[in-house]
Amino acid sequence: SATIIDGKAFAAGLRARIADGVTAFRTQAGRAPGLAVVLVGEDPASSVYVRSKGKATREAGMESIEHRLPADVSADALLALVATLNTDPAIDGILVQLPLPRHIDEQAVISAIDPDKDVDGFHPINAGRLATGLPGFVPCTPFGCVLLLKSVLPSLSGLEAVVVGRSNIVGKPMAQLLLRESCTVTVVHSRTKDVPAHIRRADIVVAAVGIPQMIKGDWLKPGATVIDVGINRTETGLVGDVDFASAVDVAGAITPVPGGVGPMTIACLLRNTLVSAGRREGVAVDEAMLDRAGL
Ligand code: NAD
Repeated sequence: SATIIDGKAFAAGLRARIADGVTAFRTQAGRAPGLAVVLVGEDPASSVYVRSKGKATREAGMESIEHRLPADVSADALLALVATLNTDPAIDGILVQLPLPRHIDEQAVISAIDPDKDVDGFHPINAGRLATGLPGFVPCTPFGCVLLLKSVLPSLSGLEAVVVGRSNIVGKPMAQLLLRESCTVTVVHSRTKDVPAHIRRADIVVAAVGIPQMIKGDWLKPGATVIDVGINRTETGLVGDVDFASAVDVAGAITPVPGGVGPMTIACLLRNTLVSAGRREGVAVDEAMLDRAGL
């Protein structure tokens, strides 16, 4: 039976290292790192995410600045807020919680954020930096996935990796990160002709689809490392995109849902905010220490 990758424990360790880094930053910079979170409307899932991000930010010793705007706010008003946050010296990270109401052009808002405060890593400049190997900000969920992979695999170099899903938030940056780790990367998606055939060759499977328990154990190569990004609410509770019950007998290591990738996302957001603060204030932040593979 597979090793269960304990994302909750890994994220707790990462958050403890971040809190130490924040203490050191505060001593040198004379202020705390600041993360601004903007929530438009009252989508229940988004409200929960924003609340837990605020809590985690404060627990790490950082300043959480939350802006709640009504669902009918104009695009101009939202863009004006982003512009203010861009120039506010106390703000190191800006996160606009997605999805935005339909009358607002999401891409325009993302592009309005200062790329050097874009701790979500969604700005096209940061996507380009990731693709070209320049330092920037990497989207939190795929970044967390790489940390989990490195916690169970001594080296990713040369491994066959299959990413299921091609979203801008998870699938595409995941593929770029795996390429950066010298994996041989395949991205499969809704138009792929034979998804199981690709997955059968994979040493690493990263599932980011949003279809409950789509990937079955008998699709996996024995011993494969399986990272399940999916968070699907079903009658029986939260399940991933991987059929855990059948996969756990075939995989070498696998993330559970919940308790796998989920906790890593917020931890990596805090990590990016501390790194941003360090870059902006010229204070050294030990990224290798933050990103180390052990607990
Ligand atoms: P998305 O809907 O934007 O993208 C889904 C992708 O899956 C698309 O690229 C699509 O082509 C592909 N797809 C759809 N049907 C497919 C099929 N039959 N075979 C292969 N590919 C198929 O979703 P997303 O934002 O990337 O999120 C994916 C999942 O991850 C969701 O369950 C979401 O809730 C979860 N998620 C979790 C976290 C976290 O923190 N753990 C963060 C983001 C997203």
